[in-house]
Amino acid sequence: MGIQNSANLKAVIRPSVEKALSLTIPKTQRAAVAFTHGGKLEIKTSEPVREPGPEDVLVHVVKTGACHTDLHALSGDWELKSKMPLIAGHEGAGYIVKVGEQVTNYKPGDRVGIKWIHDTCGICEFCLSARETVCPNQETSGFTVDGSFQEYAVAKARHVVPLPEGLSYEQAAPILCAGLTVYRGLKETEVKPGQWVVISGAGGGLGHLAVQYAKAMGMRVAAIDAGSKREFCESLGVDAFFDFQSEKNLSQAILDTTHGGAHGALLAVANPEPYKQALGYLRTWGTLVTLGLPKRGSEIPVDIFDTVMRRLTVRGSIVGSRIEAIEALQFAARGEVKVHLEVRPLSQLQEVLESMAKGDIKGRIVLDTSK
Ligand SMILES: [Zn+2]
Ligand SMILES: [Zn+2]
Repeated sequence: MGIQNSANLKAVIRPSVEKALSLTIPKTQRAAVAFTHGGKLEIKTSEPVREPGPEDVLVHVVKTGACHTDLHALSGDWELKSKMPLIAGHEGAGYIVKVGEQVTNYKPGDRVGIKWIHDTCGICEFCLSARETVCPNQETSGFTVDGSFQEYAVAKARHVVPLPEGLSYEQAAPILCAGLTVYRGLKETEVKPGQWVVISGAGGGLGHLAVQYAKAMGMRVAAIDAGSKREFCESLGVDAFFDFQSEKNLSQAILDTTHGGAHGALLAVANPEPYKQALGYLRTWGTLVTLGLPKRGSEIPVDIFDTVMRRLTVRGSIVGSRIEAIEALQFAARGEVKVHLEVRPLSQLQEVLESMAKGDIKGRIVLDTSK
């Protein structure tokens, strides 16, 4: 099977895809390639397009998000280092142009998303028990294999996720990591409809999505952020806003507003400070979920007596499973979650990453691979 037969291909593509679909696969493409950790990216226009293996699909990435993890992959500041040379990126939205010979679940023209998990082993104790996010044998997009900062990316057919009809590539891209991560994180808080969840960093790239998922899931949202983020958070429908810069006693204010503390808290910030406060505003039986990745060695001070007596839970969460990716995308397709984003050309990726490192990015950045 291939893309050569354009008559067959036309029959399977959806009208919304047809306009963007190029019927031939070029030999070379645009890609943002890193050669050393911490070095400058090279925007290549003649990077070879790879052939998909038997279980792979070749995806024409139309739009790709840029995530904080890309910064770490490229700078090499984690103990765990990415491969080099590397094409980073793990929020790729596009459509399939070619499938490997053993692929039966997709065909050319199908709209799909590439996410952080490129592949899992399927046979470890975690894969066997539907906990693939912590499979120790996983391959990751834009880290152990080349990712979505290119026009044509090879992905595993069993791990790409279908994009719902009507959801644009630019709205879909940030859901594939940011949206998925907060959606799973909210489930991990075990907050029920009508109960309070605290979202720290609520006006940020992850936070503004977390607020919208939480509201759509029926939770009452207590947002923490500062300054002008108040207006933004209120426009997203938060039930209460707490300014961590001006609030003298943040924990007490949250305890008062929630009449006894939040049932859960989701912390999506890289600064370790907010993690230290969180147990103070949690309700008895509450759960603190950590999504951010502060520096190695950062600690949450946990009083053991208090944790026992009040039955508190502190829990980490990382990305989400395939079914959760599908669910997360459907919230966006229904219009319940809208990503605040800016589209920039892939050729400007270096500048985008530099702004991200300085914390100058509002919402999410999505890159157009055609420019
Ligand atoms: Zn990510
Ligand atoms: Zn596994």
